[in-house]
Amino acid sequence: MDDMSLLVDLHRKQVRQGPGGVAETKLAISLSGLQPSEALTIADIGCGTGASSMVLATQLKGQIKAIDLFPNFLSELQVRATTTGVGDHIETLAASMEKLPFEEGSLDAIWSEGAIYNIGFETGIRNWRHFLKRHGILAVSELTWLTSERPDALTAHWTREYPEVDTASAKLAQLETHGYKPLGYFVLPQACWKENYYSPLQVEHAAFLERHQHSEAAKAIIVAEQSEIDLYEAYREYFGYGFYIAQKV
Ligand code: SAH
Repeated sequence: MDDMSLLVDLHRKQVRQGPGGVAETKLAISLSGLQPSEALTIADIGCGTGASSMVLATQLKGQIKAIDLFPNFLSELQVRATTTGVGDHIETLAASMEKLPFEEGSLDAIWSEGAIYNIGFETGIRNWRHFLKRHGILAVSELTWLTSERPDALTAHWTREYPEVDTASAKLAQLETHGYKPLGYFVLPQACWKENYYSPLQVEHAAFLERHQHSEAAKAIIVAEQSEIDLYEAYREYFGYGFYIAQKV
């Protein structure tokens, strides 16, 4: 199994594949001003197993187009959507966020939690804009500096791993530059990282290693995940995920 398949195998039984929470998705919906309607078309990009897709479908009742690169995440999502009773509201599409299968001006909203970093915040907000209808909504969570100063080791780490990491004011300015009106911003609470994401994942580590006979590749993935968790524990005052809600102008 290659590294990507191993990562999908580790994460696919999880409720979510990144930091977030039901209450936080609901808060973002509320800040967006979107109102429930069967007529809404919303793309959830990098949806994973669909934590946010499920909330969007339940709260807004429209048609959710749940997009991810990995069909194994989408098959989990389909099972969960059916079990939750929102199967009719969610259509899964295996596609890359680099080449979205949408018509110009066809979406009421683009949602993307913990995923836009795969192409970079600026590329994402710039390239996705034309898929939105006039006054359409963009709601994305993104790695954000929470303070103007921080330890050098942390700056060095994220500058290497995700050079676009920046403060909220810089991200909001980018949104304005690229034709969006910011409607809201909040920081995901620490529970969204620990209770909702890292703790359930850590519970899965042993079974994952067992399943893959403690292969070097599997062990390397667990070491890398643990060091990400340690980094968060050590520096969570300084970085987190900002949730940005904006409207196409
Ligand atoms: N939104 C989900 C998953 C976040 S993890 C949640 O909050 O739980 C990031 C997701 O982006 C993963 O599911 C990964 O498979 C997906 N992804 C990575 N690169 C992608 C790409 N190029 N196109 C579409 N999805 C991608």
